[in-house]
Amino acid sequence: MDFFPVFLDIKNKPCLVVGGGEVATRKVGMLRQAQANVTVVSPELCATLQELADKGQIEFHRTRFIPEFLDEALLVIAATDDRSVNAEVSAAAKERRIPVNVVDSPDLCSFIMPSVIDRSPIVVAISSGGAAPVLARNLRARLETLIPTAYGRLGQLAGAFREQVKKHFIRPADRRIFWEKILQGPVAEMVLAGQDTDAKAALEQALQAESGDTPPRGEVYLVGGGPGNPDLLTFRALRLMQQADVVVHDHLVAPAILELARRDAERIYVGKERNNHTMRQENINELLVKLAKEGKRVLRLKGGDPFIFGRGGEEIETLAANGIPFQVVPGITAASGVASYAGIPLTHRDYAQSCVFVTGHLKDGSVNIDLSGIAKTNQTIVIYMGLLGLPTLCQELVKHGLSNSTPAAIVQQGTTYRQKVVTGTLETLPGLAVDAQLKPPTLIIVGEVVKLHDKLAWFHPELGEGTSFTASLND
Ligand code: SAH
Repeated sequence: MDFFPVFLDIKNKPCLVVGGGEVATRKVGMLRQAQANVTVVSPELCATLQELADKGQIEFHRTRFIPEFLDEALLVIAATDDRSVNAEVSAAAKERRIPVNVVDSPDLCSFIMPSVIDRSPIVVAISSGGAAPVLARNLRARLETLIPTAYGRLGQLAGAFREQVKKHFIRPADRRIFWEKILQGPVAEMVLAGQDTDAKAALEQALQAESGDTPPRGEVYLVGGGPGNPDLLTFRALRLMQQADVVVHDHLVAPAILELARRDAERIYVGKERNNHTMRQENINELLVKLAKEGKRVLRLKGGDPFIFGRGGEEIETLAANGIPFQVVPGITAASGVASYAGIPLTHRDYAQSCVFVTGHLKDGSVNIDLSGIAKTNQTIVIYMGLLGLPTLCQELVKHGLSNSTPAAIVQQGTTYRQKVVTGTLETLPGLAVDAQLKPPTLIIVGEVVKLHDKLAWFHPELGEGTSFTASLND
């Protein structure tokens, strides 16, 4: 290690910046973020710094640098574009043993500034020791996506309880076990889901339980896994997938997505293919309650969005009735995922001002929804679960007033490398779908917007064949 990493307390302390341009502005911003009293020395000042000076938020001296400016300073940053001035600042600071940073000149620095992820009080600092700042910045960008923004609030909550917990557990090892449970368990998840009051209550309760080894309360995460392509998961879905003790999933969840769940998590398949219900809905509801009562973190993973034709509402109703904590994570629903990947905008100023999602699930061979209200021009109709009923659905839409030349598409396994798009009209689509030998899941889109597919199709999955990514859906 070439540099010793420390976090310096510069709150209300004098810090000097030499230079008045854009780079200096960034450095001033960082120092002010850590609440320093900043003085800027420069013959010229850019507009942003001038504004800060006018408001009295920085002290400004319109002059060249002289070493006397260092008399009060706790540290100094040289950010001028004149190498000789920078070298002068560096030499003067080193003589006075004041830490000095010179922008883009590692040889003139006695300290360097890291790339920072600020989730105060949690702060992550990354440095390449001046060797490859871009690499450090890349790493920062990756970490930014991994560390939830609410981590700061989690840090604050932990900070507020720190002394109390310290008093409660005399042995540091017990303390550590307690905090590990809190910060990786439901309390942390509540904070990240914005349920701060519940989190505080749960932390107090855990502390009152008087012992570091009381089992954590179980909870359920009802998570939308999106339409099949793992890239379309949300950050929150991925994080919860990597924490859960048990994953309860059905057939719509692609194996490539399931693979992202924690390796040692138990997996329970509850099926629900058409006409082949592995487990009845009531039993699934009960199972979730049972697992949570055992203290487990249960991930109920669903295809698409849990609240769109996902029966998510029923599942959490049972949880609520049993007092089990839960949270719902939205996913990209098939309509928006599939439409995007098929190049069919669901609304368009010229063709459709509204869009409806309906289920085409047939009970006893008949259409169980009233299509009269939705068969309208200038409206896009998206039909879930409609493959089997496709001929009937097309006929019914025509019967209710749509022209049989209305454009219509059916998309198989949209967003994945098995995506197939078949387009036609209400008259021709059923026959074309049979010829294409489509496999579920499929989504039907009806309306003028389908015409745009020819122009806007951008996802050509045949290009992906032979790659390692195969989101084969269980059909
Ligand atoms: N909750 C899910 C829908 C569950 S109903 C969601 O929000 O997407 C199951 C139906 O969703 C399937 O019959 C099919 O119509 C549709 N579907 C889901 N994923 C799909 C995909 N990748 N391609 C096409 N249709 C899909």
